[in-house]
Amino acid sequence: MRAEILSIGTELLVGSILNTNARFLSRKLAESAIDVYWQTTVGDNPARIAEALDRALERSDVVVTSGGLGPTEDDVTTRGLSLALRLPLVPHAPTYRSILRRVRARGLRMTRLIARQCAIPAGARAIPNDHGTAPGLLLSVRRGGREKWILVLPGPPRELEPMFVKRGLPLLLTRSGAPKESFVLKSLLIAGLIEAQVAQKVTDLLRLKPPVTVGIYARPGEVELKIMAKAPSRAEARRRIARVETTIRRRLGRKVFGADGETLEGAVGNLLRRGKWTLATAESCTGGSLAGKITDCAGSSRYFKGGVVAYSPDAKCDTLGIDPSLIRRHGPVSGPVASALARGARSRFGTHFGIGVTGNAGPTLDRGSRAPVGTVYIAIEGPRRGIVKKIRFLGSRSEIKSRAAQEALNLLRLELLP
Ligand code: AMP
Ligand code: MG
Repeated sequence: MRAEILSIGTELLVGSILNTNARFLSRKLAESAIDVYWQTTVGDNPARIAEALDRALERSDVVVTSGGLGPTEDDVTTRGLSLALRLPLVPHAPTYRSILRRVRARGLRMTRLIARQCAIPAGARAIPNDHGTAPGLLLSVRRGGREKWILVLPGPPRELEPMFVKRGLPLLLTRSGAPKESFVLKSLLIAGLIEAQVAQKVTDLLRLKPPVTVGIYARPGEVELKIMAKAPSRAEARRRIARVETTIRRRLGRKVFGADGETLEGAVGNLLRRGKWTLATAESCTGGSLAGKITDCAGSSRYFKGGVVAYSPDAKCDTLGIDPSLIRRHGPVSGPVASALARGARSRFGTHFGIGVTGNAGPTLDRGSRAPVGTVYIAIEGPRRGIVKKIRFLGSRSEIKSRAAQEALNLLRLELLP
């Protein structure tokens, strides 16, 4: 079944509010194995709403609209429906009574505008609104010899969301006779590779067609592979996902750090806790954002002892005991200085592991620096060995900082893996 979401509201078109209803509806429809092919947005104008509805009914089996059901003059969704479907608006007595009850309970009087909300297209089924006055609507119409469905929902998310989940969607599924299918989604999270490298390893999987598909999404320092499966039952959908997951894990191995909403700092935290290891950091170019990420995890005090932001050469020497001649010889952005930072953190805080980060986040080159913008050295010092890695990141200053922090977490994760 093909669905289209029609968001109604001039506020959306002028950018005053974010269209969270479309995202919510898309997600819920996908979970019910209903394919959303279109999302359309139109302003509070009856003629244009009618035009958008017409087009949606031509190409989709189900149209879900949001907004424009309120009591103000600019709420004209029912007028748009009436125009597109050539149906008169008629008062709906049960809706009038329930609106009257709500109005009286709030100590207000019924007005013409409030009463307008009980006029619905003839033949529409009203869906009670548990959190507001305007009812939702379900209509069925014939277009091109097929039965099509229109589900009309109020704009405020706290009204739309429960109405859709509790009443609208179940009603739509039973009335339209949509095949009962289950949709299951699983995300695998990858660090240490850029999007293009991941894509290259799973090119064949990215071309899969329903019922199992794989999507790829990149965020700073991590790549997500989203496996989506449709099947007659949840169990079968899960089995389909598991087969693809095994293939991905086999190809990407230790680059996969987690699944479904896990974070790199969480994965690192779990490994540190399991090994009863402790950690300290010494940061230059990341300015504390590495420590910030580590401490985003509840319970991080069990393994994270502390961190230092040592930005100037003097601060690096004074707080971490680095030999000034080392910085003079190699420059502040260098492998030896990153290692010295990691060693300094490890010894000052008395931990098993120390991370040192130094680099050039740009956009201009610091005085006396020899490394080009985006160059970052990350060092890990541990009980068994020390490593240092030079990486060249692209992007804005904040992207470079956040990628460097992610890369440092990933390097530590790889050191901690058995
Ligand atoms: P309306 O019924 O169109 O007047 O919408 C009432 C209120 O609901 C708006 O002022 C917004 O705060 C909210 N709203 C309407 N449409 C959306 C949407 N697509 N996404 C998020 N909020 C919305
Ligand atoms: Mg409005």
